[in-house]
Amino acid sequence: MELFDLYRRISVKNDKKILLIVLDGIGDLPVNGVTPLEAARTPNLDKLASESTLGLHFPVGRGITPGSGPGHLSLFGYDPLKYEVGRGVLSALGLGMELTERDVAARGNFATIDSDGKVIDRRAGRIPTDLNRKLIEKLSKEIKEIDGVEVFLKTEAEHRFALVLRGEDLGGRVSDTDPQLTGKPPLEPVGEDEKSQRTAEVVKKFIEKAAKILADEHPANFLLLRGFDKLPPVPSFEEIFKLKAGAIASYPMYRGVAKLVGMEILGIDGEGELLKEKIELLKKKWNEYEFIFLHIKKTDSYGEDGNFDAKVHHIESFDEVLPEILALSPDVLAITGDHSTPVPLKNHSWHPVPVLIHSPYVRKDDAKRFTEKEALKGSLGMFRGTELMPQLMAHALKFKKFGA
Ligand code: ZN
Repeated sequence: MELFDLYRRISVKNDKKILLIVLDGIGDLPVNGVTPLEAARTPNLDKLASESTLGLHFPVGRGITPGSGPGHLSLFGYDPLKYEVGRGVLSALGLGMELTERDVAARGNFATIDSDGKVIDRRAGRIPTDLNRKLIEKLSKEIKEIDGVEVFLKTEAEHRFALVLRGEDLGGRVSDTDPQLTGKPPLEPVGEDEKSQRTAEVVKKFIEKAAKILADEHPANFLLLRGFDKLPPVPSFEEIFKLKAGAIASYPMYRGVAKLVGMEILGIDGEGELLKEKIELLKKKWNEYEFIFLHIKKTDSYGEDGNFDAKVHHIESFDEVLPEILALSPDVLAITGDHSTPVPLKNHSWHPVPVLIHSPYVRKDDAKRFTEKEALKGSLGMFRGTELMPQLMAHALKFKKFGA
């Protein structure tokens, strides 16, 4: 039996509520002997840890450094090796674009090329979002369809946008046109199979047309595309776990991965960038859902910047709002990350991620704090990230006994 078949069979509806808080990239390495979690002053989190059970999880597997997409899929219970999905799909979904099984989605950047056709700025000087909107409007007006394939474009922010191509027989295995380097010409899109080659031909024509329309723009006189993919078949969270689930996340990619599994996206574009606004939204929506995923981004951003103090400070800011979250009395509360983003590495890493589960049915581990070291002593031990969701279901008494 597949695990999801087991979950479908034993999951039951009840009135208990689960809250999953993801502090993106929370796991870290010591700098001058302490990690950001250890350096932060977190009285509320410390108290919660002492009343919870702790452990560490591997989002994908030991030694594997996950992207945020696979990291989140794993936390939602989906094997990221089985459900692989391109960034284009996550961005498009996260921007609220509807995707059908006929569609191919990609992420786009406005860029600057010189008179020789070489990329001199992959981000077109990070043009303001307003200008991005104007350019997308212009492109959308002039390129509606290519060879019977419909073209949809949507602004993300600054230089970033999403592209969706909708038509018959389009394949999603198309290579990036973004050379990832300056001083090089953009790459030709190449399809891995016949259907994807058809997509690549449409992409080529799209780029040609767009380049003509953008020719007089400065600095956004070109565009680069990457992360092509089709929407993979993914069973919904509600169907597997019988949970009405909502997601609070401000960046499109996290909204996208939540949407992919069928969660409702709470709040509107651009809303809730601040911790306090996210907590307000959580309070407002709390009664409407049985499961809420709350995403906090900046712990990861500061890790990638190599900014130890800012990461510490953001953990402390989270600690300050924690009492407001606890006042909602979630029946089951989990706090973890989707991967580690250690300050010394300025990047995602393979290190296991601390996780805390709080419910009336935990064996309290006597942890003093929510840190990497205390988590290692916890009774949850080390487990694969996909095993978090079944444990949250169990703690919410939403799983029936298996077998007689
Ligand atoms: Zn992440």
